[in-house]
Amino acid sequence: MATVSLRGTEPRSNGGSHANPNYTYDLIVIGGGSGGLAAAKEAAKHGAKVALFDYVKPSTQGSKWGLGGTCVNVGCVPKKICHYSGLLGHAIKDAQALGWTFGDPKPAHDWEGLSSPVRDHRGMLNFLYRRGLQSAHVEYINALTAFTGPHSVTYLPKGKEEGEEVEVSAAHIVIAVGGRPVVPREVPGAVEYAVTSDDLFTLKTPPGKTLCVGGSYIALECAGFLTELGNEVHVAVRSILLRGFDRQCAEKIGAVMQEFGTEFLYQTMPTHIAKTEDGRLKVSFRHTGTQAEHSDIYDTVVYAIGRNPDTAGLNLKAAGVALNGGGKFVTDKEERTNVPHIYAVGDVLEGKPELTPVAIRTGELLARRLFAGSKKLMDYDLVPTTVFTPTEYGCCGLSEEDAVDRYGEANVEVFLSEFMTLEFAATHRQRAPKRMGEDGMNELQPMCLAKLVCLKQEDNKVVGFHFVGPNAGEITQGFHLAMKLGAKKADFDDMIGIHPTDAEAFASLHTTKASGESWLNVGCGG
Ligand code: FAD
Ligand code: NDP
Repeated sequence: MATVSLRGTEPRSNGGSHANPNYTYDLIVIGGGSGGLAAAKEAAKHGAKVALFDYVKPSTQGSKWGLGGTCVNVGCVPKKICHYSGLLGHAIKDAQALGWTFGDPKPAHDWEGLSSPVRDHRGMLNFLYRRGLQSAHVEYINALTAFTGPHSVTYLPKGKEEGEEVEVSAAHIVIAVGGRPVVPREVPGAVEYAVTSDDLFTLKTPPGKTLCVGGSYIALECAGFLTELGNEVHVAVRSILLRGFDRQCAEKIGAVMQEFGTEFLYQTMPTHIAKTEDGRLKVSFRHTGTQAEHSDIYDTVVYAIGRNPDTAGLNLKAAGVALNGGGKFVTDKEERTNVPHIYAVGDVLEGKPELTPVAIRTGELLARRLFAGSKKLMDYDLVPTTVFTPTEYGCCGLSEEDAVDRYGEANVEVFLSEFMTLEFAATHRQRAPKRMGEDGMNELQPMCLAKLVCLKQEDNKVVGFHFVGPNAGEITQGFHLAMKLGAKKADFDDMIGIHPTDAEAFASLHTTKASGESWLNVGCGG
């Protein structure tokens, strides 16, 4: 490889005081997703001379996209638009129950009518991110890069031939290359025929009858909106739903989704995927317990069984950077790898939540420590999150199970209430009787669950906030602040509710799980 080496050749206009003539840049960021963009822009804001590399390798099905990383292109953003489209479908039905009439043709969903605005919106965001880097004076290099030494990386500039690689260097390097979806090579036909979240949101043809494989965030979110859009959807879950989340809430999500039409195949894993003569997909399954086998025909198979860190191609050994067995970085409190001037942020970090706001905040704080004299570290405690299933699930802090494990059953008090959203009760959204009550009467599955996990020995300090219901993401964001401020159950009791809302349930949670009394509430809102 004939490599051109650039060293301190292009002085920055940022007027920063960090310039080191031994290096081309003060900071090189590898990866232009949530974490990398945040680190690069924040560093430039404090006067650093920064280059950011971003390059998207095509998915197993050949999908590609622009600057912005997973969140913008194939994650949070397209997912939330699809989620909204699904909710609108349900809203149309509610509207009819509340006086609206729709003429002919009847409301129907058109897949291209959704995937086209998804593509347009992400195209606009790609453009805005490029412009954002430009105005922040970050040099954006659209190329795949890899280490050539502890301070240097190489890349092939656009339009150049192999052998014309360029090498650049920096005093500090931040790795923010994120992850890519796992597609199991051991399942014949999976790599060939299955799609992942890298492809789903912009499929050229309607997904039709769909199998989602996996039991966590992505499988459930995709199954949720695809069901709401009118597709027949099955979810193959090898063990339990939403491992690591509060069990009662996770099971409620499963129950509500089932009620709205998603079919769950528990303890079931695909063993083989083949194309049928008419171009559909025949999936063979095996039950993990009984070993019983069956098969079914689908139009689309979506694998959502986790994501692997995209670190294999970085040639880390040239820089002496170590990975754990799963390909992630083990860093210290300052996100420093085993090589002192090389850092990692975002989804590539071992044991940290794979969430956009976490990647962004970690990148910003790191840049401030490197270039603005800050000492502030990322606080990974009490990170709030929401699963955007049709009925959302938002939480912050410990699940009931984790609280019991950590503090002992005798020290944990759980306050909770299950209830129905006023608007949905009025529109009879849930007509199907699902549960047998103690009096032998059929009960409706209440859609909402509000739950506080409290620590008795600390005056019922709230260590776990959980809400299953509409707009859980919006609701959980606000209560996250209360958790950060150390709210106790008494503080929640002191709140004045906003009536009629679902969130007001948290102002009147009187029933404890231990009391044995029913926590099912009837009436409006919470
Ligand atoms: P990424 O955003 O993945 O960015 C890494 C970038 O580096 C990519 O552009 C990649 O192509 C590039 N790259 C890789 N290797 C190289 C190289 N060698 N040279 C140059 N460039 C390279 N999080 C939430 O908080 N809320 C949500 O609702 C949510 N929904 C999600 C839905 C889906 C379907 C998925 C898949 C994820 C979702 N996430 C969500 C997670 C969130 O998207 C990630 O946590 C976040 O994007 C991680 O940011 P990152 O900077 O670590 O990596
Ligand atoms: P996760 O890592 O969260 O979960 C993987 C799921 O796949 C689990 O249910 C797991 O089951 C199952 N699984 C693993 N291997 C196999 C296999 N070989 N066959 C069948 N099932 C398998 O992965 P996701 O893909 O759902 O999400 C990746 C990350 O992206 C999340 O952790 C999250 O941080 C982020 N994300 C965040 C979102 C949000 O904030 N709303 C939305 C989407 C993604 P088991 O429990 O048995 O291990």
